[in-house]
Amino acid sequence: MNNSGVTMWEQRWHPLREEWVIVAAHRHDRPWHGERAAATATRAPAYVEDCYFCPGNRRVGGACNPHYRSVFVFDNDHPCVGPDAPQSLAAPPGIYRNSPATGIARVVCYTPLHNVTLAELEAGEITALLRAWREQYVELGDRPEVRHVLIFENKGEVVGVSNPHPHGQIYATNFVFKTIETEVIASRRYYADHGRVLFQDIIGSELADGRRVLAENASAIVFLPYFARYAYECYVAPRETHPSLATMSDGELADLSAALKWLLVRYDNLWRMSFPYVLTLHQAPTDGGDYGGFHFHIECHPPLRKPDLLKYLAGPEVGGGNFLSDTLPEVKAAELRGLPAVHYRAGVDG
Ligand SMILES: [Zn+2]
Ligand SMILES: [Zn+2]
Repeated sequence: MNNSGVTMWEQRWHPLREEWVIVAAHRHDRPWHGERAAATATRAPAYVEDCYFCPGNRRVGGACNPHYRSVFVFDNDHPCVGPDAPQSLAAPPGIYRNSPATGIARVVCYTPLHNVTLAELEAGEITALLRAWREQYVELGDRPEVRHVLIFENKGEVVGVSNPHPHGQIYATNFVFKTIETEVIASRRYYADHGRVLFQDIIGSELADGRRVLAENASAIVFLPYFARYAYECYVAPRETHPSLATMSDGELADLSAALKWLLVRYDNLWRMSFPYVLTLHQAPTDGGDYGGFHFHIECHPPLRKPDLLKYLAGPEVGGGNFLSDTLPEVKAAELRGLPAVHYRAGVDG
């Protein structure tokens, strides 16, 4: 125990993944007091000639982007799953099996502006993005060969993204991604055992404790969960249970976008830098199953613990499959809550 009465060394159960997270924050969980990146004096230009995503530019595949003004969705020129994937595959020997990598991979440009981040878009623009995500989920999920639609954003060079033009991706696949499958099974079992929605009880537990709740509005909530595996891992979710964006009202979408913006502004303000993360929408599979107990949410996994320090995935995570966290969720939540509400680049000309 430290002087705030918080245990800094314990194991915490992750109810959605059904696994332990080792919290060992007694070792070196110190707030960052080192160098902070200075707010860039001048922005990159709003349009970049050789960017594949800027309006009017030619992409690698040869297609030309329209002069779009809002959200722009197109088929990925380098798809990892696609309609053209080889169909007739030789069966592998022994116990192994394979399957055609069919599916649809798309890119979603959030805005024509090259030099902003999702955090800097107006709440109304983020709502437009949520609407586009909803349309994509419904359209792609309706296809009989698509069992799941994974919508995500990789942001920052440390997660492998070299083009800063704000964009995300969609993988509509003929299988359900493992994490979603795990959450589906956990939610289903919980409902059978308790007659309640697991994610509702997570929200209830966060509200009852209060220390990790970051923001709330009429129909959405932001929190850094008790069982966070990454230092600044946060969830953004509607309060009501919706298996996906598809059943959410426009009012709920507006609240969700306000909640998401709340979080992303704090992320960028934390070290006054464009904060890298992997943001993923966890929505129910689209294979026709019953997912009434599945509660749609957005998960943000930032890879950094400090401005210059990555969370390395090593022995426990890669070798063992469970996470070791060096930070205490309650402390990280307090850090995020204490940050300014105005984006640090607001007013910087571009
Ligand atoms: Zn661009
Ligand atoms: Zn999830």
